[in-house]
Amino acid sequence: MDDKIAITLSDTRKKKPQSNQLLFGRHFTDHMFILDYKEDQGWHNPRIIPYQPLTLDPAAMVFHYGQTVFEGLKAYLSKDEQIYLFRPYENMRRLNESNERLCIPTVDEELAIRALIQLIQVDKDWIPNADGTALYIRPFIVATEPYLGVAPSKTYKFIIILSPVGAYYKEGINPIKIAVERKFVRAVPGGTGTAKTGGNYAGSLKAQEVAADKGYAQVLWLDGRENTYIEEVGSMNIFFKINGQVITPELNGSILEGITRKSIIQLLSHWGISVEERKISISEVYEAYQSGNLQEAFGTGTAAVISPIGEFLWEQETLSINNGETGELSKRLYDTLTGIQYGTLDDPFDWRITVPQ
Ligand SMILES: *Cc1c(COP(=O)(O)O)cnc(C)c1O
Repeated sequence: MDDKIAITLSDTRKKKPQSNQLLFGRHFTDHMFILDYKEDQGWHNPRIIPYQPLTLDPAAMVFHYGQTVFEGLKAYLSKDEQIYLFRPYENMRRLNESNERLCIPTVDEELAIRALIQLIQVDKDWIPNADGTALYIRPFIVATEPYLGVAPSKTYKFIIILSPVGAYYKEGINPIKIAVERKFVRAVPGGTGTAKTGGNYAGSLKAQEVAADKGYAQVLWLDGRENTYIEEVGSMNIFFKINGQVITPELNGSILEGITRKSIIQLLSHWGISVEERKISISEVYEAYQSGNLQEAFGTGTAAVISPIGEFLWEQETLSINNGETGELSKRLYDTLTGIQYGTLDDPFDWRITVPQ
């Protein structure tokens, strides 16, 4: 396959939002990347084109049965104007794992990274430079074959779009309130919880809406079989510090394998702090709270990096953690990971990749 990426530049340029007024996922850059798939041609015709709507047949399978996957990562601008990516190969590996689960043909990870880098180069003026801002990268694949049968599509589009995003924490890192979800579940072993696929998020909206009505920012998901073991918080992985020990739910076939989660485990072990990856029940957390041993809890993911949890709603009871303030470990992890991402700290793990300019 000729996999040289053709570039068609846009004749017009959009007005860029101010770097200090950015929201999440509301603004999109001037260009996008597209790659097509057909059964007899495989993935073909990689190209960067002006950002534009797609034309899809109304019978395109993604609209009906949700055969789709996505990824999320960021490009960071350093103080000295270097552009960095954080572990992008991990995202492309995970994209292909999601593809396997959704019966979507895998993509060439090297080509996907090259596409990403070239697209960022074309739209590099869109990378915001205010503190804590970044260019969010959204690669995704949709099934495009016009067919109402339930079967894997024979055609797909792989697309990458870019969105400048604001600082997640405007006034410093802020603990969130979360409600333990008793009725709805996010995923079950054998289901699609380990894949980044649209249906998982559509299915989570109801619980999220109910929690938001009660004033909670996210829900804490328990396992789908026994409704006992903690899985994730919103669309983040979760960590606890109980009596000095760091604990995170083990990857059990329904938890999404976060790259931030993995990086935190590696970072803690580098600091000589061990992490127990094991089952942790909501009652264990409750008992730790009652005995005064629940020191910290935080969610982890690309968007917020670390999201400290200041309060849990469990049954009718409110459990306040660390007086609703950000814990010491949460803060140290946040500062270190963002320091590596923005290039203000050394990167002993070679996680950072420089985008050539
Ligand atoms: C994307 C995601 C995460 C976090 O993954 P990162 O690679 O750390 O961004 C965690 N849980 C769910 C359900 C997710 O979709």
